[in-house]
Amino acid sequence: MFQGKVVLVTGAARGIGRAIAAAFAAQEAMVVLCDVRPEGAEVARGMGALFVHADIARSHDRERLVHEALRQWGAVNVLVNNAAISAPGSALRVALEDWQKVLDVNLTAPMHLSALAAREMSKNAGGAIVNVASVQGLFAEQNNAAYNASKGGLVNLTRSLALDLAPLGIRVNAVAPGAIATEGVLEAIDLSENPEQTRRDWEDLHALRRLGKPEEVAQAVLFLASEAASFITGAVLPVDGGMTASFMMAGRPV
Ligand code: NAD
Repeated sequence: MFQGKVVLVTGAARGIGRAIAAAFAAQEAMVVLCDVRPEGAEVARGMGALFVHADIARSHDRERLVHEALRQWGAVNVLVNNAAISAPGSALRVALEDWQKVLDVNLTAPMHLSALAAREMSKNAGGAIVNVASVQGLFAEQNNAAYNASKGGLVNLTRSLALDLAPLGIRVNAVAPGAIATEGVLEAIDLSENPEQTRRDWEDLHALRRLGKPEEVAQAVLFLASEAASFITGAVLPVDGGMTASFMMAGRPV
């Protein structure tokens, strides 16, 4: 499906990004994997991908990332804006520099990278961009204002880019995952006071009563980036086990 296509995935050293990169690599795409974590090099080697050690919060690194993809593979056909961070805590106390860092990584970087990639895609009759948003871009979680705002912004950035890039033959969509069993999420559960109860509480947020798997998000990203989604742009696809199908909260019947 993606043979010969150059696919750039940010934040792909672990978690959902790694699963996305692996899914594209399994489809014979030429994958460029970027992360601030140096262990991304090992991950990339394992899937025959190119690793670019870069901090997407920095404008210069974003330019270098696209430049490296072009230098190595000669094009950019698909961009997946996956890397993100959060700064939990009450909106009353969030430090401005933490707020700014979250917006830099989660919102400014996808916007700038999309613009940089779109210029290259337009030389090859178009392409596809998929943003990894969150259910927290559709509604808010308490004590997570910066992340909520950044993901809400990313959802509407997806629509804006879809409109602006359509004339160039570039489709732009987003996925909005529920709670996914990544290293980070499993670690947070393990570090909680009562890991078994915490896991059950998280599972109960979803109609399907379980956490999602990174591979399940990856398959949705693959679909949106593929020709199978050729008439889909500006869409936000929940990959959330039915979490946003309900207005009720955890633990209550859906
Ligand atoms: P993760 O923290 O496990 O992985 C994110 C990766 O991005 C890490 O490898 C990290 O080093 C990298 N990264 C962070 N800042 C970076 C930067 N400035 N430059 C380059 N790389 C950077 O996260 P995850 O759980 O795999 O989540 C991936 C995406 O899915 C994120 O956009 C996240 O918001 C979204 N998401 C995750 C969940 C979940 O339950 N795991 C739910 C909803 C949405």
